[in-house]
Amino acid sequence: MANPTRCAGCRYLRRRCPEDCVLAPYFLSSNPERFICVHRIFGASNVSRMLMQLPVVHRAAAADCMSYEAANRVRDPVYGCTGIIYQLQQQIAMLERELAKAQGEIAFYNAQQQEMNRDQDQGESSLFNASQQQPFHLDQQLLLHYYQLNLNP
Ligand SMILES: [Zn+2]
Repeated sequence: MANPTRCAGCRYLRRRCPEDCVLAPYFLSSNPERFICVHRIFGASNVSRMLMQLPVVHRAAAADCMSYEAANRVRDPVYGCTGIIYQLQQQIAMLERELAKAQGEIAFYNAQQQEMNRDQDQGESSLFNASQQQPFHLDQQLLLHYYQLNLNP
């Protein structure tokens, strides 16, 4: 028996849609662009073959993956999904730099706070000496250098 409503694949290929059509559950007639896109990139027979080779539980995910890859390949014929992956990697790298910068600022303010606490513990008379301690100023120099690297990568 044939499906009363043909799936998007069978409709596009102008063929009868059998009841056990492998495309029907994943390429509904209400969304013909999804099948057209996948057919354009992979070919209808390859899509059917790939779906038939998989256990039924994995077919929906495979159809979604093929659809996603095909849509991106149509949108960006050169890079496809890898273009998006590259963009996301760039965002990750940028966010990692921002995170490192924020952690550097936190470390700086913590060190500054510890310095102030130590100065208060030692009293007013030693405040002048504490501010001249070399490690604190070295940290500031390193932090400034680090910011300049991040602002001008
Ligand atoms: Zn069909």
